[in-house]
Amino acid sequence: MALLPERNLLLEKLEKHDREAVLTHMSDFDFDLGHVFGEPGEEVQQIYFVDRGVISAVSMMTNGETVEAYMIGREGFTGTTAWQVPFRTSVRYIGQIAGRARRIEARKLRELSSERPSLRLLLATYDAALQVELEQSAPCNAVHRAEQRFAKWLLRAHDRADNDTLSMTQEFLANMLGAQRTTVNEAAQSLAGVGAISYARGKVLIKNRAALERAACECYAAAKAVADRREASSEPVPVKS
Ligand SMILES: [Zn+2]
Repeated sequence: MALLPERNLLLEKLEKHDREAVLTHMSDFDFDLGHVFGEPGEEVQQIYFVDRGVISAVSMMTNGETVEAYMIGREGFTGTTAWQVPFRTSVRYIGQIAGRARRIEARKLRELSSERPSLRLLLATYDAALQVELEQSAPCNAVHRAEQRFAKWLLRAHDRADNDTLSMTQEFLANMLGAQRTTVNEAAQSLAGVGAISYARGKVLIKNRAALERAACECYAAAKAVADRREASSEPVPVKS
């Protein structure tokens, strides 16, 4: 798999004057697997634009169970709507694949986006894509089998990773999928059986993406189609200065 540019795709799409204005207020932030960026109930103070690696937004149940609500790679940023209004998140943001982000104060980004229509539009297109994903995830969790959801999750992580090996324990995978470890183990064995992946010592190797795509539920292809349409229609909007 070719190395992707280590840059946040939204920042790359900004017009030069917007990008420069935003970057002035950003600082680099390296993060490790397991780094916690924010907890449920906290007001989002900092927004992280991912350059490399993956951040998971994880829902926490009162009995200690967790399940991933969505993941953020270089296509996005944390904090959902905190760039528009002061916002208390309901999820924990946690480093899933170590990487680097650029962070900016939420308050500053609100100020900048209120003055800059093309920046506002770009951030809103990402929020809209996230909304579609969240609308889809409840029926997916209810209807699709664990193995299909596991395959979808691996594809989504692979899309955001820099290589074919994903480091994660079965416990972590179970937490992300809201499943039992035995269920994850069975799903991994089944996907290994069709040659899609191999799994050993906390590492998943993606061996055959086409096989993985066949094993995934329809939700992966549906979300990708929405993202591709967005890609085609979200050329920077010229702004008269
Ligand atoms: Zn599904």
